Amino acid sequence: MTTVPQVRTRVRIPLRFGDGPPVDAEAVTFAGLSDGLEHLAFVLGEPGPVPLVRLHSECLTGDVFSSARCDCGPQLAEAVARISQAGGYLLYLRQEGRGIGLYNKLDAYALQDSGLDTYAANSALGLPEDARDYTAAAQMLTVLGVQQLDLLSNNPDKAAQLARHGIAVRERVRTGVFANENNVRYLRAKAEQTGHTLALTFDDWPASSAV
Ligand SMILES: [Zn+2]
Repeated sequence: MTTVPQVRTRVRIPLRFGDGPPVDAEAVTFAGLSDGLEHLAFVLGEPGPVPLVRLHSECLTGDVFSSARCDCGPQLAEAVARISQAGGYLLYLRQEGRGIGLYNKLDAYALQDSGLDTYAANSALGLPEDARDYTAAAQMLTVLGVQQLDLLSNNPDKAAQLARHGIAVRERVRTGVFANENNVRYLRAKAEQTGHTLALTFDDWPASSAV
């Protein structure tokens, strides 16, 4: 088994989100990534010397089933659309539930229904608030020849982790905010506890839906 990260396969996959326009993407698989997981890179549009990049962590409930408990589905669709226009890469990282896994994420949802926020629920389960690691993402970008990028993200930790792995972030491009009555507590916790730059107007939400 190889230990040097490298491209394994490139294959074209036409994508479509909801009733949006079709997007022609090239999926790239890798060998030799640090965590051994099956991460994917999607090449979208025509990446230039400083491509637009999104690191999207897998969220089965949000990405596939359009769960309203988080904003992952709309964020994924937005990222594909914007990167297709600008030219760049969407890295689809298999770290479900901020790295704690699907079942643990659903356990945490159950705790949130009893009043804990998304981070406190993870702590109550004895799990890290955020177990995501972007080492493999940095390896994927390096293999793809990306040394500098514009990062589509509201999360300052992603840019910091990439920089530690030698990937220069020229600009952090904010994503849209997709708030609804089901996910506003989740979004508020992200903004307040991990420094996500979300232009949320919580005053718009009645207290009854936020607690
Ligand atoms: Zn999600």
